[in-house]
Amino acid sequence: MVLVVGGAGYVGSHVCHALRAASEPHLVLDNLEKGHRQAVEGSPLVVGDIRDPNTVKRVLAEHMPDTVMHFAACIEVGESVRDPAKYYWNNLYGVLVLLEAMREASVERFVFSSTAAVFGEPHYVPIDENHPTCPTSPYGDTKLAVERMLRAFDVAYGIRSVALRYFNASGAQPGANIGEDHDPETHLIPRAILAALGRVPPLVVFGTDYDTPDGTCVRDYVHVSDLARAHLLALAHLRADGPSRAFNLGGGEGRSVREVIESVERVSGRKVPHSFGDRRPGDPARLVASSKLIQSELGWRPRFVDIDEIVSHAWVWHSAHPEGYRS
Ligand code: UDP
Repeated sequence: MVLVVGGAGYVGSHVCHALRAASEPHLVLDNLEKGHRQAVEGSPLVVGDIRDPNTVKRVLAEHMPDTVMHFAACIEVGESVRDPAKYYWNNLYGVLVLLEAMREASVERFVFSSTAAVFGEPHYVPIDENHPTCPTSPYGDTKLAVERMLRAFDVAYGIRSVALRYFNASGAQPGANIGEDHDPETHLIPRAILAALGRVPPLVVFGTDYDTPDGTCVRDYVHVSDLARAHLLALAHLRADGPSRAFNLGGGEGRSVREVIESVERVSGRKVPHSFGDRRPGDPARLVASSKLIQSELGWRPRFVDIDEIVSHAWVWHSAHPEGYRS
């Protein structure tokens, strides 16, 4: 049985969907601050906060999971600069409480949502696992700190882990009635779609003078259902006594902001109202993953690499749920 901490969020709910499809017993622990109850219909849910040791200890003692997956993090780079305490408190202290409770309950497998933000400004692309880690935000700092904590906890306490460093999670599981619903929504694909639907003001393209083919930033959009499958492979790896690992996870192709806008226009048949603005502080020009390591070690392959296919799944979700789960 798997404890899915933060399972009611965007990536977590897709992992729960994959766990249900695999008939894998699991339980969601989520404080529902950012998560949505409707996102985990069909999965058992306990509402609680990982920063409360008593809650975590009780859940572990009652349900005795063999593995914990962690998604319960704050994820906004800009916010982490303005309010780093929130990030250290939730993303670092929360994980420490969880790991300490796991240690006490002898739960020795952990799958961790990490991020491309652990790398900071890239020295080369595609970014592989040998690339130096040098985060440029408190958000990235907290994720890297947890990765380091996990390495030490493996050596000292035998807790084995897989850290999955997502690049740009996007899309939605077709036919599952789950999708992206952040408040506020800052990500490019949902913002472009919501702008096309007239739900948000016109999109502002952050910077057109980058050293990229069309001057806008290039990112690696990886389908959230492909991310979800990587979690199940990580689970199998740990259950087969595989060693602790950190893997990069991307679709493997860089797409510029302009290309994403064009894709949304093709898929939706609508114009994306947009203007061109200044660079957003902290945005590297290009972030593209090499996912070769997880491909060779766990056999992971992204199923959805075509940007129009990824955007079309996001479009189906957002056009049916223009106000997210409130719709
Ligand atoms: N972006 C943009 N306008 C927006 C939101 C994002 O131009 O309203 C750009 C952003 O600068 C980045 C890319 O789109 O180059 C992806 O940004 P997102 O916030 O989706 O993900 P990130 O790469 O920051 O994790």
